[in-house]
Amino acid sequence: MSNKKTAIVCGAGGFIGGHLVTRLKREGYWVRGVDIKAHEYGNENADDFVVGDLRDFEVCKALFDRPIDEVYQLAADMGGAGYLFTGDNDAAVMHNSALINLNMLEISRLNDVKKIFYSSSACVYPEHNQMDPDNPKCSEDTVYPASPDSEYGWEKLFSERLFLTYHKNYQMEVRIGRFHNIFGPEGTWDGGKEKVPAAVCRKVATAEDGGEIEIWGDGKQTRSFLFVDECVEAVRRLMEGEFIGPVNIGSEEMLPINELVEMVAQVAGKTINIKHIPGPLGVRGRNSDNELIREKLGWAPSRPLIEGITTTYQWISEQVANTKEQEVPKAEELA
Ligand code: NAD
Repeated sequence: MSNKKTAIVCGAGGFIGGHLVTRLKREGYWVRGVDIKAHEYGNENADDFVVGDLRDFEVCKALFDRPIDEVYQLAADMGGAGYLFTGDNDAAVMHNSALINLNMLEISRLNDVKKIFYSSSACVYPEHNQMDPDNPKCSEDTVYPASPDSEYGWEKLFSERLFLTYHKNYQMEVRIGRFHNIFGPEGTWDGGKEKVPAAVCRKVATAEDGGEIEIWGDGKQTRSFLFVDECVEAVRRLMEGEFIGPVNIGSEEMLPINELVEMVAQVAGKTINIKHIPGPLGVRGRNSDNELIREKLGWAPSRPLIEGITTTYQWISEQVANTKEQEVPKAEELA
């Protein structure tokens, strides 16, 4: 039997899970990916990829036909503001993600997994600390008294607690990271589940120079965005270290959405006008607070946003161009 470390990545067909599989393979792991769907952009780096529904405990059980050292639990029912903040998908989001977490944690315990990572979210932080766009408070210790602004955030908070109880009662080695707006290539960029950076890149890529794009709200709401490579780096450092978390995994480079549009337009070499329209917004301001990660891991993300945006814009504009090429011409266009 090989002495390679073994890992299961749940949500390997998704954005961050796909990048994590690639990273673990590069580090020499044997990796089993699992997701309800194949990877959207064809990432086939896992040694084994199971298409299965993690809400089904039998599917979870079957993943453990060999000893597994580490589990990375990234599977969740999720999307951008248009999916999570309208209220229309709340029951599905809470039911599906909680079931996946309950199943994967219990099956990992039964199989003596050495360490398990859980991907929580900045959406756990109380709404009242994120009303001022210039001064949001998101240090880890401000999470209680709890008051997340979405049911997605409440489920994440419940699952954080679930993981912590498995540590307390069964001494399981859990690690919990709170992701803040992760972006990069091979993320959803259209269809309604895309998040802000991908949506802005797509809109700018499809707009003419001097054209107009629509942005939800007044665009003065602030956010920070973390490039996916640094997210994966943080996950690996957390898993290698002793600190359990929860700890923020995000960037401290906060900016208003209007400025994000300007940045993408600059990268694209276009002049873009913004039309503000009503839409689901989330909190007024949000930024990662990296004091704890710096203290516990001796490291924090530091890459300038513009670098990740440049890479991501390039990838999304290629996707847009490919999609246009594949569009079937209408009959009148063929005539
Ligand atoms: P993603 O949607 O691309 O990946 C999640 C994957 O889970 C998807 O591929 C989906 O098919 C899979 N999944 C959903 N239900 C499943 C089921 N029943 N069985 C098996 N697989 C199932 O999202 P992502 O951006 O890669 O996020 C990964 C994790 O990080 C999620 O838990 C998400 O909540 C968390 N997170 C992400 C961000 C972000 O900015 N991307 C921010 C905070 C937290």
